Amino acid sequence: MTVIAASELVKRYGDFAAVDGISFEVAPGESFGLLGPNGAGKSTTMRMVGAVSTRTSGSLTVLGLDPDDYGPEIRSRLGVVPQQDNLDNELRVRENLLTYGRYFGLPRRLVAERADELLQFAQLADRAGAKVDELSGGMKRRLTIARALINDPRILLLDEPTTGLDPQARHILWDRLFRLKEQGTTLLLTTHYMDEAEQLCDRLVVVDHGRIMAEGSPASLIRSYSTREVLEVRFGSDRNADAAAALAAGAAAPHESGAALEPRRRLPAAHRAEPHRMSAVIA
Ligand code: ADP
Repeated sequence: MTVIAASELVKRYGDFAAVDGISFEVAPGESFGLLGPNGAGKSTTMRMVGAVSTRTSGSLTVLGLDPDDYGPEIRSRLGVVPQQDNLDNELRVRENLLTYGRYFGLPRRLVAERADELLQFAQLADRAGAKVDELSGGMKRRLTIARALINDPRILLLDEPTTGLDPQARHILWDRLFRLKEQGTTLLLTTHYMDEAEQLCDRLVVVDHGRIMAEGSPASLIRSYSTREVLEVRFGSDRNADAAAALAAGAAAPHESGAALEPRRRLPAAHRAEPHRMSAVIA
């Protein structure tokens, strides 16, 4: 049983394929990630799943329905957290939830109850009467998530949920998303960050240039593609090609070539593979 099934999904803008034959399936209650750099096609994929953009070809079902034929039905059963917060700054925090809930045609009393529960969930109960402008970036993000949950959706789509947040705000948000997952909400999220994917996703696909480059659980991807230490090496932008060639030939001594070496992170013990090797990322 799947709640989202995409097969050979394509989205073209003129001659350009923003999504170029992506296939994946998401099971109920699963947390599934699209990981990739800017321009990879993640948001375009999300918009097709969210039934706000039509596909060029391929097949797609969301909750068993084709978004081309059942857009309103699908949209009413999804929660969507867009990349840019689009909260209503004219309204207070709780009013944002009440107004949004009314768009779904939900009874006023039900929306009010749900708004209060969601403010608790988002740790914003003490800010219910605050202006949106007074909230921190992390609080705005949590309010956007609370708002996306007002219709009690079975699937939550999150486009780069923590981009731009400080580490503490990210961890609070991860904790809230983890709780949602525990409650059985299916999560589909995009991210640039492997650590975010590792925290939140059961499975993920790595996307670049509109195509899937790798697929699996975060742990299996780290085992397959990473090593115990990852160094991020920055050269002058005109020196990347030479540096890459030198590293590939095993001839590089980066400290001698003037590169800035920065140990990026040590992977948890469970993810350590091939402990004596070192890999480099050229930024
Ligand atoms: P990501 O979310 O991975 O950063 P996007 O899905 O936003 O990537 O974009 C994928 C590619 O499609 C980019 O090259 C982007 O410029 C292009 N693109 C996205 N939307 C449009 C559009 N409406 N018209 C033309 N090109 C677009």
